[in-house]
Amino acid sequence: MTRPPKLIQHAQTIAQRLAKRYPAPQTELTWTDPWELLVATILSAQCTDARVNMVTPQLFTTWPTVHDVAKADLSALETTIHSTGFYRNKAKNIREAARRIVTMYQGQVPQTMQDMVTLAGVARKTANVVLSNAFGIHAGIAVDTHVKRIAFRLGLTKETNPDKIEQDLMPLFLQQDWGKVNHYLVLFGRQVCTARKPQCVICELEDICPKYGLIPTTSIASK
Ligand code: SF4
Repeated sequence: MTRPPKLIQHAQTIAQRLAKRYPAPQTELTWTDPWELLVATILSAQCTDARVNMVTPQLFTTWPTVHDVAKADLSALETTIHSTGFYRNKAKNIREAARRIVTMYQGQVPQTMQDMVTLAGVARKTANVVLSNAFGIHAGIAVDTHVKRIAFRLGLTKETNPDKIEQDLMPLFLQQDWGKVNHYLVLFGRQVCTARKPQCVICELEDICPKYGLIPTTSIASK
């Protein structure tokens, strides 16, 4: 999808300024290999990264490999991840994903979007996080609640569906930066442009932010 040049320039300015704030952005989840990152990302749905990081050490000690998780007792898995919420679905998905990775992908996390989204509990957001962080493959931009909120406030999208927001964002940034853009917006959303109390007075984007949803303003996206 082609986007207006003015909007692309706006997005580039945002990326440049956030790059100064976050010179080496990375996920706050703890992981040591693609499988661990996949599990941690599935667990992070509706849960903080800090909470996930408290749970995964025991999980990976009890079931050290994807093969172990594929054979795990479901109720034991549920107990281990209970505090991350939605534990029944998450446990089922993690074990199903492990079984598919063992049977279809020789125990290796697949490295394409097409294959990733065939895993239980994995939609584009999770797939993007794993592909980008574990493999350096930028197939898209992971859209979570922070990316969704900030992209809207900054006038980068009018969409509310995460897949459509992703399609709006991708043409605005260089593909090589897609992973970083996700990190910028997630970290910025946690620390500055929060859901309830955006810190506009200390924000480096204040002069270029239309603050959609906060105050009425002229549309940048339609220019
Ligand atoms: S100016 Fe306010 S609304 Fe806009 S990005 Fe900064 S904190 Fe968010």
